[in-house]
Amino acid sequence: MTVQPKKALGQHFLVDENVLGVIGRMSNLEASDVVLEVGPGLGVLTRYLADRVRVVHAIELDRSLEPSLLDALAGRTNVRLIWEDALRLDLRALKPSPTKLVANLPYNVATPLVVETLEHAHSLDRWCVMVQREVADRFFAVPRTKAYGAVSVLVQLAARKTGFHAVPPTVFRPRPRVESALVAFERAPVAAISDVRPVVEAAFAHRRKTAANALAHAGFVSRGRAQEALAAIGRAPNVRAEELNPAEFVQLAGALR
Ligand code: SAH
Repeated sequence: MTVQPKKALGQHFLVDENVLGVIGRMSNLEASDVVLEVGPGLGVLTRYLADRVRVVHAIELDRSLEPSLLDALAGRTNVRLIWEDALRLDLRALKPSPTKLVANLPYNVATPLVVETLEHAHSLDRWCVMVQREVADRFFAVPRTKAYGAVSVLVQLAARKTGFHAVPPTVFRPRPRVESALVAFERAPVAAISDVRPVVEAAFAHRRKTAANALAHAGFVSRGRAQEALAAIGRAPNVRAEELNPAEFVQLAGALR
């Protein structure tokens, strides 16, 4: 069966099965796991997961892949296929509840999906995702670097990195133009990012502005209130968002309440 890959859906199918072993190790797969896979595509990873865990929930947007996918999964009764946009689906409604997110993610939804699942999919305690190298680097970037941004703060508050593996374009068909990486992380004990998320996103919304100006510009609080809150956490009124570490964002959100 031949399938014409769709660029807009980020379809870069895994063809090198050696990568599956790396994904398996980084995911720490156990027989009792319930895995959420977003974008099963032609089912290479889905099949690998289905043979090792209890249930795989596989959410795929492109229904034209159905014949190939069913073919790849022949005989496996523990895969639940859901034909939907993963960003619109209520992941909390999945039964049994997923414990791990393991996926070669469509690159255009990778960042929102990771943040959404960290914030709302409380049953998940481990992630192993294939993303663009640049996106992977952002997740655990440190303050005062170009890669550091809202997603770095939120990921680092909610999770702890457990693994990283660079992946060249040659393992995919068609080959992406960029490098990729597998990144694994587990949920940190304190994972309440909901209170902090609006502050973080507003503060980073305008990278050239000071944090206080960005917060005011986003309509979040007045500039004066923002500067007071920054003073309360021991920061200068003209500090920029990229200078604040994740713990300081928690304090700042507290001071703004
Ligand atoms: N896991 C497969 C395919 C990865 S390509 C493999 O490794 O070979 C990314 C897949 O995500 C494609 O099949 C694409 O159709 C699907 N996809 C893209 N956007 C999606 C969305 N919003 N929700 C669910 N699936 C999506």
